Order: sequence, then structure tokens, then C-alpha cells
Amino acid sequence: MNIILMGLPGAGKGTQAERIVKEFGIPHISTGDMFRAAVKNETPLGLEAKSYMDKGLLVPDEIVIGIVRERLAMDDCAKGFLLDGFPRTVPQAEALTATLKELGREIDHVININVRRELLIERLTGRWICPICGASYHTLFNPPKEAGVCDKDGGKLFQRDDDKPEVVAQRLDVNIAQTQPLIDYYVEQGLLRNINGEQDIQVVFAEITSVLRG
Ligand SMILES: [Zn+2]
Repeated sequence: MNIILMGLPGAGKGTQAERIVKEFGIPHISTGDMFRAAVKNETPLGLEAKSYMDKGLLVPDEIVIGIVRERLAMDDCAKGFLLDGFPRTVPQAEALTATLKELGREIDHVININVRRELLIERLTGRWICPICGASYHTLFNPPKEAGVCDKDGGKLFQRDDDKPEVVAQRLDVNIAQTQPLIDYYVEQGLLRNINGEQDIQVVFAEITSVLRG
């Protein structure tokens, strides 16, 4: 079961990734973890990647692909894997397809968790913080008893700049623009399956497993 999981920030990708790897007994391969491991273990590619990161430069695709390739060739990926955060671009996706082919494998499913932009913004901007005790609330998931006021000490809740709608919307739009070509690519390949991420976590997970078992 070789899976790519896609979804914008706020779509619930992390939660679903955790459940999928548990259900199917496959490793969760996130780009960040993979890079940190390669750098920490000082593999040749890890060291090369580090030399770029130390200079604040983007790690070139051939190194990224090399690290992914090494990771996918490890024993724990024999039964499959869940890729999260990779590929990010069409050239990376094409390189992944070629690499897997060399390993005698292929991607089985690309799961895309879909949530409308407006709802993502609502989810991503819902965080409010108490200046007195530091308690964190969320207007959708963990609202205070009285709007804008801390339950514990009556502090007047505020939003971090990063959680403000205009900042979040701008970041999200960059992300949407970058992701679209990748979605188009996997649609062309006949691999993309859209899942409605606006439903309950359990319902989303049930739909994903039904696609994966289908
Ligand atoms: Zn408080």
C-alpha cells in the first residue's frame, strides 16, 4: 500500500495520517522527519543537504529525491508507506514515479483531503490566547464560555499576528497556487482521490479506508 497524502494546512492531514499508518501498519514518512534523520545520521546525502540548509538555500531536487529513495528502500517500507509533505512539485512527482519504478513499485493512491478555503481560514484563525495565564482557546474546537474572555481569570483574549485572517489567507493562497499543478498531475495519472475533509474526523477516516481497501 503505497500512499501519498495531500491536504492544505487545516485540512486535518496530520490526524488522518496517524490513523492511516496505524490501521495499515505502514510507516509515516514526512519530509521533515526524513531530512532530520538523514542529517542526524550523517549519511552522504544528509551531509550534502545540510550544507545547503546551513547556507539557508533550498536543497536541490536530486538530493531530496536521493533521500526519499534511501528511505523508501528501507525494510520497514516493504509493505508500503505513507508519504506526507512530498512531493511538493510536479518535477518531484515525476522523479518519485521514476524512482519507484526502479524499485519495482508504484504509487497506489493519492488521497487529497479537501476543505473549502473559507473553512480552512476559519479553522486556522480560531486560536485566541489569554495574556494573563497563557491559556489557548479555539472558536471552533475549544471556545471559552464567554466570547473573548478567559474562563479562568477573565483575561481579554488576543490573537497572535500569525493567526490573523489576512496573514493566514495570504499564506493559504500561496499554498493553494503551489499545490494545484501537483493535483492536476495526479488527476492525469488517474491516482487522485478527493475526500471531503469537512466531515467528522471518523467519517473522513472511514472514507479514506474505504478508498484504500477498494
Ligand atoms: Zn487566563
